[in-house]
Amino acid sequence: MTAADCLFCGIAAKTVPARVVHEDDALIAFEDIRPQAPVHVIVIPRRHLARVSDLAPAEASLVGQLVVVANQVARRLEIAESGYRLVINCNAHGGQTVYHLHLHLLGGRPMQWPPG
Ligand code: AMP
Ligand code: ZN
Repeated sequence: MTAADCLFCGIAAKTVPARVVHEDDALIAFEDIRPQAPVHVIVIPRRHLARVSDLAPAEASLVGQLVVVANQVARRLEIAESGYRLVINCNAHGGQTVYHLHLHLLGGRPMQWPPG
């Protein structure tokens, strides 16, 4: 999978439609097409990185940026007080299906633990 045929690169480039809830120079956030909770937003870096385990120490702040945007979106969608879950799935056993680094923001209902 390269950036050229990556679904989320397509969303970042606006060649694939999405319901965008945030964008800036580095990141874009959009509603998940198959929501698992009343609020389910995907936050991605515009730059293609296949999985979180590919993150180099020098670019560790990228994950911090994803979290900051997720927190902002949570506040705007009024789930900050009630609470929410941030998830990054990595590879097959982690449940990753789209190989472009992304953070899930899930909220609007109580979450279960342990996860499935
Ligand atoms: P993961 O399983 O962690 O790789 O998450 C991928 C997520 O992307 C899933 O929750 C999918 O529902 C979501 N998804 C797949 N295609 C699209 C799309 N075209 N627009 C928005 N979300 C999508
Ligand atoms: Zn990509």
